[in-house]
Amino acid sequence: MTNLLDLAPSALAAFFAERGEKPFRARQVSRWVHQRFVADVGAMTDLAKPLRERLAAEAQVRGPTVIRDTTSADGTRKWLLDAGNGNAVEAVYIPEDDRGTLCVSSQAGCALDCAFCATGKQGFNRNLTTAEIVGQLWHANRALLADGVTGSWVEHGRPPITNVVLMGMGEPLANFDHVVPALQLMLDDNAYGLSRRRVTLSTSGLVPLIDRLRDACPVALAVSLHAPNDELRDRLVPINRRHPLRELMAACVRYLPAAPRDFVTFEYVMLDGVNDQPRHAAELVALTRDVPCKFNLIPFNPFPGAGFAVTPRERIVAFQQALQEAGLVATIRKTRGDDIDAACGQLAGQVRDRTKRRLATRIVPAPVH
Ligand code: SF4
Repeated sequence: MTNLLDLAPSALAAFFAERGEKPFRARQVSRWVHQRFVADVGAMTDLAKPLRERLAAEAQVRGPTVIRDTTSADGTRKWLLDAGNGNAVEAVYIPEDDRGTLCVSSQAGCALDCAFCATGKQGFNRNLTTAEIVGQLWHANRALLADGVTGSWVEHGRPPITNVVLMGMGEPLANFDHVVPALQLMLDDNAYGLSRRRVTLSTSGLVPLIDRLRDACPVALAVSLHAPNDELRDRLVPINRRHPLRELMAACVRYLPAAPRDFVTFEYVMLDGVNDQPRHAAELVALTRDVPCKFNLIPFNPFPGAGFAVTPRERIVAFQQALQEAGLVATIRKTRGDDIDAACGQLAGQVRDRTKRRLATRIVPAPVH
């Protein structure tokens, strides 16, 4: 049975065309699913009864199964979602002064094995489907509306999620074929209708796929940089051995003409004594000289066996100042939801490691990218 959450706008149009229905039916159904969050096809009351019956027989709206739903004292809310076969992924809602952001996962586990990332240490199980990716947004909006969420940006009856960041578990560009249709739904006026500026994809630097994203669906781009030179980045972000910094910087420059923002965000996790010295700041300034960018400095969230410690606060501030004095914009990421382990790097996914790189099923914190 077709899960309507799996169908990008073009696929939904094709679904109805194949059944001899007019194109506006696809738009109508899309609004029921993605704007009113209706799961029951029978409740789509402006469809003719025969069409509703046929749709009910052939399709359904199958959202995620929630294993755990936790809300932090600061309003951050985390859903642990079943990904089948003992795997689970997380979506995190972060309310701020003027927006509601959802951090979305794209894979169960991750194959890229970044040295400081707990998701990487779990190994890789599988790519999430389009329905599982967009289902996180569908479910979050639905649950928040049902609970009467408040916030200065929340308009009565309107979806409360205004921004999406693909920064949860997984490397989104490694799941390109499912992520792009999910992005298309996030942007579509008959679905979530978010502007490209409000959807950010974070990658560890899969250079050829950055180019493909630019051509297919350019949203705001964030890059998990974490090191200012190849020697260090080869160790921290092993994909750098295949796509070194010079190529990555060039891909960022190629991306920007199509991007909704005129800068790339570089994420930089602060690891005590590893990548946080004044010389690293100077190297970053030189590295990004030709790339319009902003830096987001992320205090590392330690986890058992991580092998890294967080840089003390005063040195993070000094690092920020060094970048700022060189004319770069640099912010320090606020820690949110740490009382429910929803802070960056604390997401507790659960992944059966199909890569067999490590022992299977463990519950550990998740990514910082
Ligand atoms: S930081 Fe991102 S790309 Fe690297 S292992 Fe973690 S989830 Fe994968």
